[in-house]
Amino acid sequence: MPLQYIRFSLDGNTHYGLLQGNQIVIIEGDIFADYKFTDRVVPLEDVTLLPPCQPGSIVCVGLNYRQHALEMGLELPSEPIIFLKPHTSLLPHQGDIVYWPSVGRLDYEAELAIIIGRQCHMVSEEDAMQYVFGYTIANDVTARDLQRKDGQWTRAKSFDTFCPLGPSIVTGIDAGNLRLKAILNGQVQQDGSTADLIFNIPQLVSFVSQVFTLNPGDIILTGTPSGIGPMQVGDEIQIEIEGLGTLTNRVVAPQTARFPIQQENGCHTKHTQVHA
Ligand code: MG
Repeated sequence: MPLQYIRFSLDGNTHYGLLQGNQIVIIEGDIFADYKFTDRVVPLEDVTLLPPCQPGSIVCVGLNYRQHALEMGLELPSEPIIFLKPHTSLLPHQGDIVYWPSVGRLDYEAELAIIIGRQCHMVSEEDAMQYVFGYTIANDVTARDLQRKDGQWTRAKSFDTFCPLGPSIVTGIDAGNLRLKAILNGQVQQDGSTADLIFNIPQLVSFVSQVFTLNPGDIILTGTPSGIGPMQVGDEIQIEIEGLGTLTNRVVAPQTARFPIQQENGCHTKHTQVHA
């Protein structure tokens, strides 16, 4: 049976919880290590959602759908093309994506995210699924102009708020054939299926693990289907994946960004001083 885990803050404390309808069963401990369910239940509306895990590595896969490679005018890769986003780019469901002054074109990218559950290094494709904890939704927000200008992708992919993630981690589902959509201001822009991944979930976990150790809570963004496009200040972007829910964020100018979350990495306090 699928289970839905969230991470949230309540009264200044951070917890994991099990989501059941609009109620949260509070979890004591770390869902990637030792934990137990408590007797404490709180309504979803009383908490502030956080990104559903705290990845050490946010691994992303480029060009993993044929139609997207074609729309970018790029050849199909013979091996997965991987890059990293910093953890400071994480943003929860309902958080504000900031349109930073140095960005010329700000794009959405709907992506399925794999959540790693157990440490792995050099695992085979056959064994890879034993290390997958579950799945969530990601938006691989991209400064498209800077991606093209720089040649390599670190700057374009790594601004603060460029990795919306959530709202929950879903376990116990097969993610091999899920419909995923990007919906901009209510209009469907991307509409694909994870069945069309060039490199599938076990192949990606195995491939990345040949390069570096993956730890519990690390994530792999699996690439985006065709239909990418730009967002403007004031837009609402929703990424919807069958069985996983909807990740909703708004695009704002730096001056009006809300940073209600006291992130563990402390990266959000400085933004109150931004003047663009
Ligand atoms: Mg992407």
